[in-house]
Amino acid sequence: MTQVVASKIPAEGLPLSFTEDPAALGVAVLGARFLQPLSVEVRLSKAGNAVTVTGKIAVPVAFECARCLREFPAPLDIPVASKFLPSSPSLAPGHHPMPENEAEDYYYQDDIVALDDLVRQEVLLALPFSPQCRPECRGLCGQCGQDLNVGTCTCAPPPDPRLAVLREYLKKQ
Ligand SMILES: [Zn+2]
Ligand SMILES: [Zn+2]
Repeated sequence: MTQVVASKIPAEGLPLSFTEDPAALGVAVLGARFLQPLSVEVRLSKAGNAVTVTGKIAVPVAFECARCLREFPAPLDIPVASKFLPSSPSLAPGHHPMPENEAEDYYYQDDIVALDDLVRQEVLLALPFSPQCRPECRGLCGQCGQDLNVGTCTCAPPPDPRLAVLREYLKKQ
């Protein structure tokens, strides 16, 4: 847990660098393999009650290609420029609302800025939903499993996808 006491951030700002274990942080997702801990380098500064966090998160990660299933390294370098605001008193204690998108602010409570929340959210937003080793990856043959990037196979062209949907539907009946 990396937390900072907001009132102790000096006027000149607070540079911080630390590492986070992806598993402990809860960013481990299927198809992504973290090669090393994430490394976070940020600077915190205060403007009134707001705490701004700028810097970057380096994520050494390899993904499994959604098409050909081969693993490929694709380290992420995520820029951070976020703001923590004191949470409004109307919120229940222990409730940490998370922003719905990158443009929204984070909140801190009881003078504690939980940087883990920010790191988790930024990394989850940056992970590709359907990683592909390269844009033109041809994937595997759906019938024999041949890697079509490497060579062709002799299978018949895939059946009409509309029929496949129907077949799936009938299978579930
Ligand atoms: Zn691929
Ligand atoms: Zn085939």
